[in-house]
Amino acid sequence: MSQEQASKTGILYVVSTPIGNLDDMTPRATATLQNADLILAEDTRHSGGLLKKFGITTSAKAYHDHNEREFAPKIIERLEAGESIALISDAGTPLVSDPGYFLIKSAQQADIQVTPVPGSCALIAALSASGLASDRFTFNGFLPPKQNARQKRLQALKMDTATQIFYEAPHRLAACISDLKEVIGAERNACIARELTKMYETIRTDSLENLNKWLAQDPGQCRGEIVIIVEGNPAEQIDDGEDQRVLDILLEYLSPSQAVAATVKITGGKKNQLYKMAQEKQ
Ligand code: SAM
Repeated sequence: MSQEQASKTGILYVVSTPIGNLDDMTPRATATLQNADLILAEDTRHSGGLLKKFGITTSAKAYHDHNEREFAPKIIERLEAGESIALISDAGTPLVSDPGYFLIKSAQQADIQVTPVPGSCALIAALSASGLASDRFTFNGFLPPKQNARQKRLQALKMDTATQIFYEAPHRLAACISDLKEVIGAERNACIARELTKMYETIRTDSLENLNKWLAQDPGQCRGEIVIIVEGNPAEQIDDGEDQRVLDILLEYLSPSQAVAATVKITGGKKNQLYKMAQEKQ
């Protein structure tokens, strides 16, 4: 969109707000909300506290999944008339497991400028501190609440080499970790990132086996807001071809355990995977 067009119509701002710690509110987010003609909030009562804390006096209207199809055309009209409107959610970045998709799509179709005002996002905060690979990751939102559907979804992700990220409700955390252990495998590493930026922030990265035990021993860890991150399928990440070649040569001269240990030293391959490969050769 050209500058000239943008000056005629208003701008739709997508504004991130803190996920717990109000010090994470950015000065740009505060100024954008204060200067907007209208704030669209997922829950006006919930956001009322935040707006008050930052002295933001702009009026706020509720915008959520249940009213967005009916409400969006009216918002587009106001934007076309030149008003600037800011979308926020209860916490973090709007549209990330939060409402707004229909509105942003409608605004783009109406050729209205959409501008993000970035800030907190629970999945990115969790990933950045998880100690798990962040070069490729998939955000899956919330898993299905019913066990059958959840296990099916996990089965479909099992071989994926990218890091997998989930949001989870506290009362389903233990069941979810147990299903992950069963379907993805007890030895796969994962991270539970809880209450990020808040007083009881806890970030624990361990095998799914150990995380499952930890939750059983300390049910207090199943409280608050939670992100689960699971490492990608490591079996797919190693260079099977080179590992296999080195292992095959060494197996001609050494016992399987000696050959595996030597291959780990030479190629840096994963011990468990190499054992499986050695067993398959016998
Ligand atoms: N839009 C938000 C964002 O940018 O992260 C997410 C909204 S979604 C409805 C809420 C879920 O995000 C929670 O159930 C939890 O899984 C995750 N979440 C939000 N705040 C969190 C926090 N402080 N610590 C850990 N997880 C959090």
